[in-house]
Amino acid sequence: RRLVSGLTKTRDNIVSGMDSIFHGFSRIDDDFYEELEETLIMGDLGVRATMDIIEDLKEKVKEQHIKEPLECRQLLIDSIREQMDVGETAYEFENRTSVVFVIGVNGVGKTTTIGKLAGKLKDQNKKVILAAADTFRAAAGEQLREWANRAGVEMIGGQEGADPASVVYDAVAAAKARKADVLLCDTAGRLHNKKNLMEELKKINRVIDREYPDAFRETLVVLDATTGQNALAQAKEFNEVTDITGIVLTKMDGTAKGGIAVAIQAELGIPVKYIGVGETIDDLQKFDSEEFVKALFY
Ligand code: GDP
Repeated sequence: RRLVSGLTKTRDNIVSGMDSIFHGFSRIDDDFYEELEETLIMGDLGVRATMDIIEDLKEKVKEQHIKEPLECRQLLIDSIREQMDVGETAYEFENRTSVVFVIGVNGVGKTTTIGKLAGKLKDQNKKVILAAADTFRAAAGEQLREWANRAGVEMIGGQEGADPASVVYDAVAAAKARKADVLLCDTAGRLHNKKNLMEELKKINRVIDREYPDAFRETLVVLDATTGQNALAQAKEFNEVTDITGIVLTKMDGTAKGGIAVAIQAELGIPVKYIGVGETIDDLQKFDSEEFVKALFY
């Protein structure tokens, strides 16, 4: 499976270290827990999630009277899985008329992700309209148009510097006229001016409230997994600006920092909905915590 091959480095990073601890220690003591903790933090699971996982492991060890370090392996895997639990994850935009906002800072893979998502939905026989509402960057619209062509979907754009809300307004009109299933909006992600970003998103949201009141709404934040803890920090900042309903972690192929998926779900309680595993249109996968844990540890 591609998910497994894409996670090779993350697997090496977390699991190899973990297993050498399980095999290297002859008893469960403070040093044992400390080394495990260090391995998880180095594996980008985040400080808070790591602390919770280790606490939970300690409790399980105590309750179940575990004596052998190796017996902790399964317990640790269970704790990681529990930390990742964000409840049921809905993908309703695949089932009814939906508006999906995609946010992310430059270079994280936002445009690529929108293209991949458009292709995926098109493959499911959905009618997709793209709105190029990140009008701040000159090249953004052009690049998105290339992806729209690749995916075979229509794109509505505006002039550079145009009001993003007016682009969305035009896109909604097109979506209604074509009876589109999904309106995918490329929106800005300029975190250095949070107040502006907040206002911009509010304004776009008002257009949707007015024009598309019954649509299912989704706000996806795209994060670059290779940036590790920085991706977690970005997720937190975006979460202060707007209500995020899902995360897309890009560049999971070839990074050793895939553990960030654990940190994000544990700390923010927001589901990672997709992962990017390459640069082509097919390289977007639905993320599933259970499968992720399996791919890493089994
Ligand atoms: P944007 O500035 O956020 O819109 O980023 P782009 O979509 O232009 O992507 C930036 C770079 O990252 C491009 O070279 C993409 O091909 C690359 N990229 C995006 N997603 C992935 C991914 O999942 N894996 C890999 N390896 N590269 C990716």
